[in-house]
Amino acid sequence: VEEQLIEKFDVVVVGAGTGGCMTAKTVAEAGFEVGMIDLKNKDDIGEKVCGNAIGMHHFDNLGIEYPSGKEFKRKIEGGKLYSPDNKTALHIKGAGLPGFIVDRRLFGQRLLKSAVDAGLTLFNSVKALEPITQKSFVTGILARNLKTKRKFRLCSKVTVDASGVSATLRRNLLPEFGIETDMNREDFVVCYREIRELKEEVTAPNFIELYFNQNIAPRGYYWIFPEEEKRVNVGLGVGLFGEFPNPKKQLYEAVLSRSLFEKSVVLKGGGGQVPTRNPLSCMTGNGILIVGDAAYQVNPIHGGGIGPSMLGGAIAGETIIKALERGDISRESLWDYNVKYMQRYGTKQASLDVFRLFLQGLSNDDLNCGMKYRLITEEDILRAAMEGKVQLNITEKTQRILRGLRKLTFLNDLRKVVNLMKKIKAQYKNYPASPKYFEKWDIETKDIVKSVKITFKGTKGT
Ligand SMILES: Cc1cc2nc3c(=O)[nH]c(=O)nc-3n(C[C@H](O)[C@H](O)[C@H](O)COP(=O)(O)OP(=O)(O)OC[C@H]3O[C@@H](n4cnc5c(N)ncnc54)[C@H](O)[C@@H]3O)c2cc1C
Repeated sequence: VEEQLIEKFDVVVVGAGTGGCMTAKTVAEAGFEVGMIDLKNKDDIGEKVCGNAIGMHHFDNLGIEYPSGKEFKRKIEGGKLYSPDNKTALHIKGAGLPGFIVDRRLFGQRLLKSAVDAGLTLFNSVKALEPITQKSFVTGILARNLKTKRKFRLCSKVTVDASGVSATLRRNLLPEFGIETDMNREDFVVCYREIRELKEEVTAPNFIELYFNQNIAPRGYYWIFPEEEKRVNVGLGVGLFGEFPNPKKQLYEAVLSRSLFEKSVVLKGGGGQVPTRNPLSCMTGNGILIVGDAAYQVNPIHGGGIGPSMLGGAIAGETIIKALERGDISRESLWDYNVKYMQRYGTKQASLDVFRLFLQGLSNDDLNCGMKYRLITEEDILRAAMEGKVQLNITEKTQRILRGLRKLTFLNDLRKVVNLMKKIKAQYKNYPASPKYFEKWDIETKDIVKSVKITFKGTKGT
């Protein structure tokens, strides 16, 4: 038989990444039958092209133990942000900024173990192909065992798409589920990253470094993160806009050509994509929830998605437990997941996304000027990162300087971005408590995002 019925689970989770493991663990701990699938081999789960940096507050918020042993690579105090001309470096540290550089595979393996220990069934080397739907409900998935090549079905009351950027289930949902299936390439940043062993020890081992330059990394940035004594994680991401350049070529030509990397050795290399936008407006349908990258749960400014995906997974898990206890797994019954995610992270994410669109539209000259004159101070960047609130330092003096430099458009855009961030924040604070009012809210939200995109549609490069 081509398609063989396997088992029935209360919940099937597709993807054993950070989002999937948190969802599955939460539900399994409450005693429900959970099946989790991943296309990777068990030992490879957790391994991925990543910056490997996680803020300490995510561990505190979710009650997860800090990394230790081999999983722990380094403690980070903060970040240094460099202007395109390299003349200004903003040093950001303080509450909320300390974090860890982890061994990504071992961190993922720890999350996987905690989920498996909670009593779930893991199907590794299994690829989800599509959701199965019956009478407007998702009732499981069609999957393929990558070793035997056989297709089979996993039946479930609730199914979770935590398949990362590929969003395998979400993309295949019918419109009646009310979940956005389209992907806009401009909402992604494509990256290339290497782990390199330098010939000397890193000079500032407790800071991650982010470099902005619209010619080298248009609509993205490049980074150097310290790992172990001489080991760094170095990568570059570009926005998928128009004829975007190849990030690997850019990294080799503009970054790895520097003396710092002379005689360095490549230990690993690879590419990946980061979603950068406001969260998916609706992440629930009858019998289905979307978690993590698949729902765009990522900080749109720096692309950190480990923390938000774990938060999304924890909230999704708690919502599923309540819905199963009620015996109602409809979109309405699962709706609380949308409401809670928007309250805890989505509102801030949407507001930071407005700032991302503004930043992506700036020329190198504007970036140099903005950083040099501290139009946004180190303290305010920190506040923006933690609260999604951007306060600009537009004093009489800076206004005079900008006028003198004929940067009137930049000055106006600075004012506009603050107002648009407030506007979208207010909109997300009004996220509908029930699906009944969702359609109207969604149309209004899309209109705001559209107007932000039009406002900051500048020409890139200098
Ligand atoms: C270059 C780069 C650098 C980054 N740096 C950082 C950083 O420093 N800090 C940070 O916080 N975030 C970073 N991120 C983002 C972060 O990696 C993701 O946001 C986060 O891993 C999302 O978790 P997830 O569980 O949604 O997806 P993932 O962790 O990607 O997990 C998805 C899982 O689903 C599995 N899967 C996919 N499709 C299928 C299928 N059809 N069937 C079965 N299984 C499937 C995959 O094998 C994978 O295990 C970076 C991303 C990139 C690309």
